[in-house]
Amino acid sequence: MNGTFFEPAFSHVYVEERAAALPQTKRILAKLPQAHVIPIRHYKDVFNRSGQDAQIQSRSLSLILADEPDPRVYPGAPVCQDFGNEAFYYTSTVMNCVYDCEYCYLKGMYPSTNLVIFTDQSRTFAEVDRLLTHSPVYLCISYDTDLAAIEPLTGFLKEWYAFAGKRPDLTLEIRTKCADRKLLSVLPVLPNIIWAFTLSPAAAAKRFERKAPGLDGRLAAARLAASRGIPLRLCFDPMLRFPGWEEEYRKLAQTVRAAFEPGQVRDISIGTFRISTQYLGQMRERSPESPLTQYPYTVRNGVAGYGAKSAEMTAYMAGLLDGWISRDRMFFWKDTEE
Ligand code: SF4
Repeated sequence: MNGTFFEPAFSHVYVEERAAALPQTKRILAKLPQAHVIPIRHYKDVFNRSGQDAQIQSRSLSLILADEPDPRVYPGAPVCQDFGNEAFYYTSTVMNCVYDCEYCYLKGMYPSTNLVIFTDQSRTFAEVDRLLTHSPVYLCISYDTDLAAIEPLTGFLKEWYAFAGKRPDLTLEIRTKCADRKLLSVLPVLPNIIWAFTLSPAAAAKRFERKAPGLDGRLAAARLAASRGIPLRLCFDPMLRFPGWEEEYRKLAQTVRAAFEPGQVRDISIGTFRISTQYLGQMRERSPESPLTQYPYTVRNGVAGYGAKSAEMTAYMAGLLDGWISRDRMFFWKDTEE
């Protein structure tokens, strides 16, 4: 598996009436010639309807193509790392993900697992330009989805590259578990577009990150990025606490240290799993058998996490990487009361 994913899914595509005539919508539909296309009035008529079964949906995702009248750029959430950037935003032109990580907050955030694509990014670009008139902007463009995994379908990353290439004050982060080396070999290398690979121990990736490429695939893609000089971030986030976690993260650190020269890596992030209690409640209902959702988390300020154990896990991971990368290039998500 090269990490992209759309051909087996999307046999049904719902198209919002105001999005139907957009060239971007037509471009995506042209890539799905076998799909059964269903016109709808508004994406929420399908996405928000009651009684949806997430487990059945996730076996065969449907696609919803929509248009969003408002720009979809938001200030970064406190549970996210800002990497020292003051003007920290994220944007969400796609809702939901083709991967199926057991701990993913999207399961608690949305009533459906179907994928919504807001096909026209022009209003988002205009909003980013407006923000850039005030200050440089750091923008995460692959939250609430994995944009790289659906790039063959959307072409959105290509559009972002064209946009960011002319705006040196804009820094983009593309967070991904995708292992699409073909994509990484054709995109230009821009100093202001960072590829941030989420790395999990091989055993945890296999068990908890369904449909996502395994650790080896991600590492191969990240190594290709490094060899091309693409700004590279390695994310040990979210660290998960499961039986034997220490040994699994030790093996992961050893693998990473052998795979990259420290000079090839711009920075790393370390953070433990955390999630809003509101989302966790819904995930517990949806996945009563999951050890990750049912873990007895500590709750602080509406966020569930590992509490005091979080600092222990973070320090453990940082210690494993000491001597390979300096502390000033390690970024940590810290529980507010640590
Ligand atoms: S790759 Fe990220 S967005 Fe996609 S399911 Fe996993 S955690 Fe969620």
